[in-house]
Amino acid sequence: MSAQGGKLNSRTSPTDIPVYLVKAPPMARTTPAAVPKGCRCLFVNPDVFNAFIREQSTGDGRLGLNARYVLTFMLLHEVGHLAKKTTGAEFEDGNLSELNIDPSLAKASEEDADEFAADLIKALMQRKKASDETLEATAVSMELSKLSWNMQAYRTLDQFGALAVGKPEVFFDKNLSHPNLHWRVLRMNHLIQGSSDTKMLLDTFEDARRRGANPEPLYDPSKK
Ligand SMILES: [Zn+2]
Repeated sequence: MSAQGGKLNSRTSPTDIPVYLVKAPPMARTTPAAVPKGCRCLFVNPDVFNAFIREQSTGDGRLGLNARYVLTFMLLHEVGHLAKKTTGAEFEDGNLSELNIDPSLAKASEEDADEFAADLIKALMQRKKASDETLEATAVSMELSKLSWNMQAYRTLDQFGALAVGKPEVFFDKNLSHPNLHWRVLRMNHLIQGSSDTKMLLDTFEDARRRGANPEPLYDPSKK
């Protein structure tokens, strides 16, 4: 992976975190944003990020996404990795390695970083005195709700019937290092909003996942 861009801000202080715009080789397994191992910095891959936004906002019933706020959340997640010292995306020839740490530890680190970002958004939104940060945090939270809506449209329309059986392709984790992205978004929304609705959405997803892990016939053929 090659560093293309420079630091976002030319006036840096020791607490600043440099963000590098990077490009991965075609077909490389990679991610929109990452903290590379051994670096107090962030990698953002604009091509992969734009493809993510396209994928998540294209299709029946999808809402347009404001990429700026989705990126803000992703960056906060990565800062969460730095804050909790659970960094270390390892790249080999531009490919993200899934197996550099124990899979369960990797997933727990992802959940921790999500929690860091969600807690920060929530705290900013709940500030008594409204500021620019409050408005920005609210905008990020709204974007996460829209992302969740779009994912719901994918599961309901594109994957009709998947909920009933907990179709593994939809409800299980896609790889060893990251929990299922749909589940993560539902969980983050619940961490931020904490409403009975966000809880119900999360529970419904987790119930489906349990059904998928323990498949039972949809009907009992012995009963007429
Ligand atoms: Zn992460």
